[in-house]
Amino acid sequence: MPTGVRLVVLGRQGAGKGTQCVRLSHRYAVPHISTGDMLRAAVRARTELGLEAESLMTTGELLPDDLISRMVAERLAERDATTRGFILDGYPRTVSQAEMLDTILDGELPLHCVVNLEVPTSLVLERLVSRRTCVDCGAIYSIHEPPIQGWNCDTCGGEVVQRPDDTTEAITTRLQAYERETLPLIQFYEARALLETIDGDQPADDVLAETVIAVEHRKKEMS
Ligand code: ADP
Repeated sequence: MPTGVRLVVLGRQGAGKGTQCVRLSHRYAVPHISTGDMLRAAVRARTELGLEAESLMTTGELLPDDLISRMVAERLAERDATTRGFILDGYPRTVSQAEMLDTILDGELPLHCVVNLEVPTSLVLERLVSRRTCVDCGAIYSIHEPPIQGWNCDTCGGEVVQRPDDTTEAITTRLQAYERETLPLIQFYEARALLETIDGDQPADDVLAETVIAVEHRKKEMS
């Protein structure tokens, strides 16, 4: 199976981005680079970045573009990403970040495509309030589909909890930030002929299958 890919995955909160990104990273043997997971790890480790990020994250606001772009640039410079590729989850989420990403990739590592997982807002609200997340590996569960053994992750044994920003108030702020800051990226990437829109309101296996077909097509075109 051919491995390697360079992807950005967009989608509103609760669209199933995290779930699909994990699967895509296994399928293509590339790192899943989630800015949310990186920041949550920094908060847990009480690093300088984590201390700066914590309150903004809890209320659901975005961090400064340059701060987040520096963090992503450092991660993308690592060997696994430069040689095999990456799945970017949660970045870019403003037009300014998308421009910074262009600079980071520097024409040397062009994106194969940008996957836009589309789901209606009415559906994501219910998904988000019932969502539970592993604090260690970021695996996603819900009150309807809990882990097998109590609230411990099936994959790594970590504690599975409700994210501090999965409250109704923070969810509203995050969805508003998405509409305001991230939706313009759809046009940004459409104009660059990179956008692949996938219906996220179907079983996760079907979303993955459709995404892989689209990505394979793009990879063939670019090779
Ligand atoms: P969401 O479900 O809201 O997409 P993430 O796990 O991707 O959650 O991110 C959690 C929080 O981390 C965001 O609400 C924001 O505070 C911060 N964050 C993550 N990625 C970015 C980014 N690219 N730019 C600015 N802030 C970010």
